[in-house]
Amino acid sequence: MARNIGPKCRLCRREGIKLFLKGGRCHGAKCAISRRGDTQPPGIQGTKRAKKMSEYGMQLREKQRLKRMAGLLERQFRVVFARAQRQRGNTGTVLIDLVQRRLDHVLRVAGFGHGPASSRQIIVHGLVMLNGHRADRPSMLVNAGDVITFTQREKARTLIKNVLETTKGYQQVPGWLERDETNLAVKVLNLPARDEYPFDIRAQLIVEGASK
Ligand code: SF4
Repeated sequence: MARNIGPKCRLCRREGIKLFLKGGRCHGAKCAISRRGDTQPPGIQGTKRAKKMSEYGMQLREKQRLKRMAGLLERQFRVVFARAQRQRGNTGTVLIDLVQRRLDHVLRVAGFGHGPASSRQIIVHGLVMLNGHRADRPSMLVNAGDVITFTQREKARTLIKNVLETTKGYQQVPGWLERDETNLAVKVLNLPARDEYPFDIRAQLIVEGASK
């Protein structure tokens, strides 16, 4: 499976905001953006004075931000976007809803992943169960009432416990999820509202750019 293995902090600098891709480090003093206020784009062109961004440029940047925050590649993003277009309602709102309901996002905000890459890895390695069945696709969507648990393999559970111990210090579990730390489980209480997405994304810009 294709994945982005380049430097993560560089992506934040490109977008000029924190994308929270590295777990605890993103919340500490070592974060490149907090440490240096370094929002200068990477690369030699980044040192030049910023030009006024065109409308297309803003739409593209917003799409890139969402993709990077959610850990999606272009092809995966297109699949989610096409699905959002097919559904009733405002496409931008549906797009964010679909991203929030992805299994990898749920694990991440529930504290079972340091970032998008870490939660995807736990899923593709077959450690996650959705309603008692193995769930090994990060793109699976959760529904209200779903219960996410983990494999009973001792080694895997120790690893997941360790991840949780680290993320507990900074990751707030959103109100639409209920985390059971003792049994290592997450229950989906209801579907998330648009404003519960933890990142600031102007979805309308993405829709305008992708609809051209
Ligand atoms: Fe981004 Fe995290 Fe790196 Fe900070 S530490 S620049 S938030 S990936």
